[in-house]
Amino acid sequence: MIKLVNVSKYYHNEGVVSLGLRKINLEFNIGEFVAITGESGSGKSTLLNVISGIDTYEDGELYINGEETSYYDDEDWEEYRKNKVAFIFQNYNLIDSYSVLRNVETALVNQGYDLKTRRKKAIEILERVGLNKHLKHRASKLSGGEKQRLAIARALAKDSDLIVADEPTGNLDSASGKQVLALLNEVAKEKLVLIVTHNYEQAESYVTRKIRLFDGEVVEDKEIRPFSPQKPHEKTLNPMSELKKSAIVTLNNFFGQPRKSLLMLLVSLATVAFVFLIYGSLLNVGDGRGFYVRESFNAYPERVIVVRKDGEPLTDVDYQRLSKLPKIKRIIKEDAALDFNFTLGQSGINNYLYFGGFPAFIEKFDQKKLIGRIPKEEGEILLCTYVYEEYLNSVEGFLEKDIEFYISLNYFSLRKNYKLVGIYNNPEQAGKYVITEDELKNLYNYTRFSGDFTITIENSEDFFIHNFYRVFPDKKLTGNQVSSFDLNDYVNRDEYTLKWKDRVLIPVECQKESDYRIIYISPELFETIVPPEYPQYTLDLYKVSDAQSVLQSLYKEGYYGYSVHLSFNRQYQTIDDIIYKFFMRLILAFTLLVIYLLSYLIYRAILNSKIHDYTILRIIGFQKTNIRQIIFLEILTSFIFAYLFFVLVYQFIRLKYPIMDVYEFKDYLLVGIINFLLAVFITMRFIRYQKGKSLFSNLKVEV
Ligand code: ADP
Ligand code: MG
Repeated sequence: MIKLVNVSKYYHNEGVVSLGLRKINLEFNIGEFVAITGESGSGKSTLLNVISGIDTYEDGELYINGEETSYYDDEDWEEYRKNKVAFIFQNYNLIDSYSVLRNVETALVNQGYDLKTRRKKAIEILERVGLNKHLKHRASKLSGGEKQRLAIARALAKDSDLIVADEPTGNLDSASGKQVLALLNEVAKEKLVLIVTHNYEQAESYVTRKIRLFDGEVVEDKEIRPFSPQKPHEKTLNPMSELKKSAIVTLNNFFGQPRKSLLMLLVSLATVAFVFLIYGSLLNVGDGRGFYVRESFNAYPERVIVVRKDGEPLTDVDYQRLSKLPKIKRIIKEDAALDFNFTLGQSGINNYLYFGGFPAFIEKFDQKKLIGRIPKEEGEILLCTYVYEEYLNSVEGFLEKDIEFYISLNYFSLRKNYKLVGIYNNPEQAGKYVITEDELKNLYNYTRFSGDFTITIENSEDFFIHNFYRVFPDKKLTGNQVSSFDLNDYVNRDEYTLKWKDRVLIPVECQKESDYRIIYISPELFETIVPPEYPQYTLDLYKVSDAQSVLQSLYKEGYYGYSVHLSFNRQYQTIDDIIYKFFMRLILAFTLLVIYLLSYLIYRAILNSKIHDYTILRIIGFQKTNIRQIIFLEILTSFIFAYLFFVLVYQFIRLKYPIMDVYEFKDYLLVGIINFLLAVFITMRFIRYQKGKSLFSNLKVEV
């Protein structure tokens, strides 16, 4: 089966050439059990390595089944080692974390057997080596003799004609050593078994032939007992794609090494979490430039603020156009009115009412929670608030009565009476008040005037000027009537004339002492001095998930939209924005790079701890590509788990807090792709890092 003709091997080390083997001429046949002996350094391991294709030779010719090997390239050797040779080592080289059964089953994957066949064959083989009682035990828990028998079982699983064993009994006590030799003797009846031993006496009663080396030369070659030569058997490999084999091993590793799998999963979770957070922070960046977002801002998620791209106030034409857009529940021209914050604190001896909040549109009331009724007229109000059990009875005492509210909008504030007609005792809606649409318009009027309203007060002798900084309409006034606490002195005093521009104003009595420097004028006059102007509208969406598409259609129609829900304005494209986004992407890329490097380092540490296992996989016949696939699949599966975990977490958060929902399908996809690429890069980098290294210096097998 194996024939060496004048084979020589030299070692070149820093210019010094030392001899490994000198002109070896040997022939081996299936059925032989050969002991190779000799002093330390005589070339025993070298010979075994040359025969098993682990090491190269320089001179002569090695024939395998009659085929010259001097023309073999790397792939041919790989193929040879994979299918024709099984290895047994002094230090066993088992996958310690695997069970006995899994160690053998894994070796059987390479022959393309399905799960059931693998199990059946593995159990058969383990019975043969006498380990059938230890199937589920971890390999690390076995005694030395048992470990070596497992190594033999694994070699048998490879179903090769040649088994090479370098000092297989070197670590064993003599009883276990004998067991192992007897077993190999058994095996040798149908295979060629070559063992290296420096304890020939122990092996003598089993082997069929003895070869002694000295200084790289054969000095003794003796038949000990006859053997019956066998023909090489045709090994049938079942077709199975390499990727599938790798996937099976990955799965084995995942469940066979739960601690390492968990560690990988944790690293992936951290990495994926960072990617989600960084990407999410990019999505959240939005400063609402181009929009007047007030300090006290009614940030309900369905709200979308819209302005014209040219910055001009919105007109009826705009209103018509916006009305035609889908997915919008209502358009609120009086946008600013939505940001009026009402507060109220009322407490008596046995009643108590506190409120703070913004206006809201509530379509459906749960009648059980509604105390009183819904506002029907201007000046009426309903408060949504949570009423403590003990105040439930007394709260009705507040209804249908005027209550003074403190109203504020940024630096603007006033007090105003409303008739409280209802209380909606629903904690989910707390912090909202309901008024009629007309009343919302009234509120809006408070925001319309800004600047100085200057009137002159004249009599025959002199004239002076009075400034008002707030002008509000008052429905009780008509024509040129005005009222202000500051003007009460001039009411009914004909000697004075009050003028605004060319209009003569008629002062009437004003009771509102607190409203200092405020002037109330008739609605007609109000419309002429402050024509209504709508710098921005608010649109209410039916569904917050429509925000992005609504913003897009707004943009197409010539508007910029600001969605509270999205909390940013992605479609807002000025040069500044483009630069800004560019830098944000740069920061994203940089942070990703750092994350990649960090998680690579941790992964490398974990994978390094698995290198031993990967090397063993190579020994039992897996190819380089298999190992690369396994590394990639291991990283990828942990990333996929982590990714799915965070997608679920985000879905959960989204359901609970709609405002968090900034991720859309394409964002999930992009984050998925980023993570996938991270897995690819980590694998590639690790493989490059590992290239050329091998764990066993005497085993020139790269991972
Ligand atoms: P044995 O297994 O019989 O103890 P080896 O086959 O390991 O002997 O070594 C045979 C000779 O080759 C020794 O002189 C050893 O120093 C030399 N040798 C083995 N491997 C190398 C190597 N990688 N580089 C240089 N010399 C080596
Ligand atoms: Mg040796």
